[in-house]
Amino acid sequence: MPNLTTAVAHLLHPSDTPPPPTAPLAVQFWGTAGFRVQAAGTHVWLDPHFSRHSVRELLLGRIAPREDLVRQSVDRADAVCVGHSHFDHALDAPVVARLHGARVYGASDTLHWCRSYGVPEPQLRELFGAGETHEEGAVCIRAVRSEHSPLFLGKVPFPGRITGPLKWPAPMSAWRVGQVFGLHLTTPGGTLYHLGSAGLVDAELAGVTCDIALLCTIGRHATPRFVERALDLLRPRLVIPCHWDQFWRPLATPRRQIPGNDLGGFLDAVRGHASKPDVRVLDVGGWWVA
Ligand SMILES: [Zn+2]
Repeated sequence: MPNLTTAVAHLLHPSDTPPPPTAPLAVQFWGTAGFRVQAAGTHVWLDPHFSRHSVRELLLGRIAPREDLVRQSVDRADAVCVGHSHFDHALDAPVVARLHGARVYGASDTLHWCRSYGVPEPQLRELFGAGETHEEGAVCIRAVRSEHSPLFLGKVPFPGRITGPLKWPAPMSAWRVGQVFGLHLTTPGGTLYHLGSAGLVDAELAGVTCDIALLCTIGRHATPRFVERALDLLRPRLVIPCHWDQFWRPLATPRRQIPGNDLGGFLDAVRGHASKPDVRVLDVGGWWVA
């Protein structure tokens, strides 16, 4: 029986001291599936989501990025990587790109959205998941084809592609899932793998391992043996969960987990795996430093 409580404070790990600029690897959690990876002076953002519209705005309104919230949160960015183009992963990527001149790495779906928002073409890098790699400062980025969890009544929400310009503001459903990737990063301080949705394509992960796995927790029950398979394949020594918090509440309010997410059960499953990885739950803004 999953634990249905949304309380989470007792599961949060104390944040490490913020890293010096030259740190070989540090990871900062930003809510939803969002992270900053700082490696030897390079700042790469993964699925950053700051706008966090309310449930009412999401269900009844048309949404657009909130530039003020992005500006408050992102002080530096060299690159933004997007694993799929749902609004809670891709909406704010073009704002980060425009504010900081950062390159955007994503599927064509995400790049259509970024073009629509006015990101100059030279800042856009399409991901294919065909084994290609991209050097971004001290970080090497590689996309791995993945799947979105069928978490909504057995279906992937907002299926389909973004095939051209996206007029905004728009209903949240306009940000269709698009092509889905896991994101593999190689840094001077170790390797990371980011799964922004709890789906897996085992064959694509053959030979792909990491030191640190950033794993989505919501929707994992819709993917058979998700935690066990992810850890069998990736063999991380540290797991940092993501996509557990209520991403419709402002960043400034205390964290609550998505109803039914059962973060405690996820931690038990990680700790119970034969490889015995360490696991840490970071609050928004919290750091893990290598
Ligand atoms: Zn999604």
